[in-house]
Amino acid sequence: MRAALEQAREAGSCDEVPVGAVVVLDGEIIGRGFNQPIGRHDPTAHAEVMALRDAAARLGNYRLPGCELFVTLEPCAMCCGAIMHSRIARVVFGARDPKTGVGGSVIDLFAEPRLNHHATVEGGMLADECGSLLSSFFAARRRRTLVA
Ligand SMILES: [Zn+2]
Repeated sequence: MRAALEQAREAGSCDEVPVGAVVVLDGEIIGRGFNQPIGRHDPTAHAEVMALRDAAARLGNYRLPGCELFVTLEPCAMCCGAIMHSRIARVVFGARDPKTGVGGSVIDLFAEPRLNHHATVEGGMLADECGSLLSSFFAARRRRTLVA
């Protein structure tokens, strides 16, 4: 999760909402990603998707069985779909997202029995650190808007 936080800080330094993710296989980081939909003009460029793409390219496989994904914010529905398609075994997230989180906050898509792949999901790892990165980003943005 420390490595995912580094990615989140990278996003923040690009003026993107600071969310970061890494994919781990056998204890080794094989994919990294940070949130960058604005800079890439790409609504799908969430940290999880970027990390999955990086890991899949590195392994030369569109599926990532046995891999774990660490992400600083609870995944959204789109990322949950990408996680399922990639066959990630375990997801660990930091802060909860009461507006778009599908790891139990809005709904729990990971526990939906009608979907065919299931990743185990755990939330709350370094949640305070992950969450305060987001809240200080939004506070700074609000301050800028007030000044402008
Ligand atoms: Zn997402």
